[in-house]
Amino acid sequence: MEMQGRIIRFLCILTILIFVFMNITNEFDPLREGIILDGAWKIALEDSISFKEKEFNDSNWKEEEFIYKNVLIKKEVEKLDKTIWVRKNVVIPQELLSQDLMLYIPRLPNYHKVYFNGFLIGKTISSPEDLFNDWNRKYGYFIPKNLIQYGKENTISIKTYSSYEYGPSKSLTIERAKDVLKRINIYSSSYTYMYLTNMIILLGMSAYFYFIFTRMKKKKYSYFATLCFVTAIYYIDYFVSTLPIPYIVFKKIVLSCMFFVPILGVLFLREFLSLPIYKAQKINIYIRIMIIALGVILFKDTISYYKFRRYYMIIFTLDYMYIFFMVLWDYFKNHTKKKWIYPLLLIILLMCGHDICNALRGIFPPLGFHLNIYALMIFIGIVALDLAKEYIDIFTKAGKDGLTGLFTQSYFKNELIEIVKDKDIIKKPFSLMMLDIDKFKTFNDNYGHLIGDEVLKIVSRIIKETSPENAIVTRYGGEEFGIILKGYDEKESLVLGEKIRKNIEEFRLKIDENSSTNTTISIGITTFDPKRILIHSEMLIEEADKALYYSKENGRNKVTHHREMRYKR
Ligand code: GH3
Ligand code: MG
Ligand code: MG
Repeated sequence: MEMQGRIIRFLCILTILIFVFMNITNEFDPLREGIILDGAWKIALEDSISFKEKEFNDSNWKEEEFIYKNVLIKKEVEKLDKTIWVRKNVVIPQELLSQDLMLYIPRLPNYHKVYFNGFLIGKTISSPEDLFNDWNRKYGYFIPKNLIQYGKENTISIKTYSSYEYGPSKSLTIERAKDVLKRINIYSSSYTYMYLTNMIILLGMSAYFYFIFTRMKKKKYSYFATLCFVTAIYYIDYFVSTLPIPYIVFKKIVLSCMFFVPILGVLFLREFLSLPIYKAQKINIYIRIMIIALGVILFKDTISYYKFRRYYMIIFTLDYMYIFFMVLWDYFKNHTKKKWIYPLLLIILLMCGHDICNALRGIFPPLGFHLNIYALMIFIGIVALDLAKEYIDIFTKAGKDGLTGLFTQSYFKNELIEIVKDKDIIKKPFSLMMLDIDKFKTFNDNYGHLIGDEVLKIVSRIIKETSPENAIVTRYGGEEFGIILKGYDEKESLVLGEKIRKNIEEFRLKIDENSSTNTTISIGITTFDPKRILIHSEMLIEEADKALYYSKENGRNKVTHHREMRYKR
């Protein structure tokens, strides 16, 4: 586990570095030798989407000048869903005569055809009719030497169908072929790597969360596991061109999965494991239902899809921020060996918050919306791994009681020894609670051992559910229980004891049609005060036992703290 954990952590950090590298190289691609096609281009619009039939035709050219330089030209509604031509003249100097040249297009969304001096030199495989969007790729097209007029003006024309953005949105260049090919290779392989690793990380995280959930019954983790699994589906996106379905259909499937699966997942778990879920998660689900309803109405084509995408990216980010907070919270609540690095990760959370604000204002961050979410996901993975590792340790060290599913006495005692040894924990108070069902022998005699066992299970469940998540609840012996309450002082533990006592007293067990019965429990508590010097952990057990005995002697169905017992004597 240790080795495995180290490898996974190493891979996670490597992935983050690659993301950063990728984004930096993407933004600051150096031009070695060649021509930058910056400045003014001519533009012409065509109303029809006659993308397939028409080839380059100079006659219906209604010119209009536009200038771009590293800006996104998009969202001018009257220019959406049209065929757009852009054109520029360029002089290719004699010096480049010996070179093989390529036209490099760093970003040209949607379908396009590229012409050099009127000859088609490259195009996307798809067309608008295929509804597949060659989104966010880098293109390089060879310029055949016999088409080039060296030292004179040459014309580059691009015909593109505009569904969301139109025209090239970053500077095109004419460069040496080998430079262009190298750049495209690095970019596409890092992209593939990024999507693949993300998918793997998410599936891994899902498995970890599920593991934590099954072992610790921490309900929020079942929710996280479903969420991570569903998000993994999103990253099939990059490989969609290999699937035999239209892009927009695929997107609809993904989107529906993203919103439906958590709902189905949670409902499924609720149904089959009778899990209660948190209010915050319920609200999240209601919001998702509303968004699906909106999506069904609004999301009809590519344009509406891209408009809609922004909102699910926001939900995405919020989901991960929530998971991240909860995981970190759990980590810091239960961990004694705190890692200094984790608070730094809050910076990533802030970055995500910033991304959300930008997305709401319609601005996309320079390094891409995804980057911070990736980083966030990876770090959730790392923290989850640490948590899971801790839980694995617990479960290999300690057995669990077969009837009640609680920890055993030996685990309880080991844990207590560990806590007493741990200097970080004993800086704060912690309490120990011993519980014993009242007159259980008589109960067995009256109703039989089978019903007795049933009551033991119910009482265990009530104790476990009433106790806080980090409490160590154990079956100490027959019908006796012990609880370690980290961070609980005298007052808090008395309140909790009273709650447990009341919950058990109020529970009615149906015997037959007409009759029901209940049972009561006596409780003894002691609190470790950091000012005290503790000689031995057994001392605490003894104190709690004495308090329990006091409750028994004074009428049962009572909660006694060791300290008040001393005063009463
Ligand atoms: P009190 O604690 O209130 O003084 O009375 P009690 O009758 O509970 O006392 P005691 O500790 O002497 O008896 C414990 C009884 O609990 C003995 C046994 O019949 C019952 N018991 C212990 N373990 C189990 C179990 O696993 N299943 C069932 N059905 N009964 C159990
Ligand atoms: Mg007993
Ligand atoms: Mg008893």
